[in-house]
Amino acid sequence: MQLNAPLDMHLHLRDGDMLENIATASAHTFSGAIIMPNLVPPVSTKEEVIAYKERIMKAIGNEKFTPYMTLFFKPTYDKDFLTSVRDEITAIKLYPAGITTNSEGGVSGFDVEELRPTLEAMSELNIPLCVHGETNGFVMDREAEFVSIYERLASAFPDLKIIMEHITTKASVDALEKHKNLYATITVHHLLITLDDVAGGMLKPHLFCKPIAKRPEDRDALLKVALEANPKVMFGSDSAPHPRHAKESCGCAAGVFTAPIALQLLAELFEKNNASTKNLQAFVSDNAQAIYGIKPLSKVVTLQKKPFLVPSNYNGVVPMYADEEIMYSIKEVTDG
Ligand SMILES: [Zn+2]
Repeated sequence: MQLNAPLDMHLHLRDGDMLENIATASAHTFSGAIIMPNLVPPVSTKEEVIAYKERIMKAIGNEKFTPYMTLFFKPTYDKDFLTSVRDEITAIKLYPAGITTNSEGGVSGFDVEELRPTLEAMSELNIPLCVHGETNGFVMDREAEFVSIYERLASAFPDLKIIMEHITTKASVDALEKHKNLYATITVHHLLITLDDVAGGMLKPHLFCKPIAKRPEDRDALLKVALEANPKVMFGSDSAPHPRHAKESCGCAAGVFTAPIALQLLAELFEKNNASTKNLQAFVSDNAQAIYGIKPLSKVVTLQKKPFLVPSNYNGVVPMYADEEIMYSIKEVTDG
């Protein structure tokens, strides 16, 4: 099975030692990725975008990989600022305040009029808005509660491309069809697990993430649009590494590290569900190219149906399915 120019449309590369430790795990098999800006402090100036991109390029060494950079949304961004930074970024990421790792400086109210100047300027400059869509409500309901905010934004800014990031519920899938300017990323772990896998038996800290995995019917709704390669959905791993001690602790950090095994897991999942390689190609690259209007670097990843024993850790970061066998492995990566 061959995949052309795989893209990861939601990726956390972190910074410093962690960046050095995990950057090649994505850069080896993906042509490019949308890089999340939730560093400490968040990436919110042109200089910070450029400097972070340089650190990423250094960390990936000789791998052929494009980091598609993002800014951390602030309602104070005006059109002059956005025009000046337009060439350096691919999207802007909006976090509700305090909802996930390093999101304390995010947006707390969703007053359309307050957000209007920034969002209208983004529409005019064709800058997509990526959103972590969760309220501060009950943990299982946060995403479904946020759907009305997505719909309000989609109606108020019909020319703004809004990406519902890492969707986990049927409610979000249903909203996709109601607004032409709503799109979504889906992770591989949310296609595979439900809350039962996280907390139904012994607690599995390496499967704990935000948004938390939901019910079987939610997973089924996600699987349907992914397997049929619905043109409004694209793969975004939300691969989010933490040091082992931050996961295996009292107060487990949210995030699942899937970057090095994401394509292998997707190959297995699509095969098990009798979905075509053509649909997988659309889900992991073609749909994203069309939605974002990007032309990724060419890269051909050949996968083979040969069991792969997932390592216990990658430079100290424990991946999903550590020490377990998965059905596909990477045979070869070429420049295409
Ligand atoms: Zn994320």
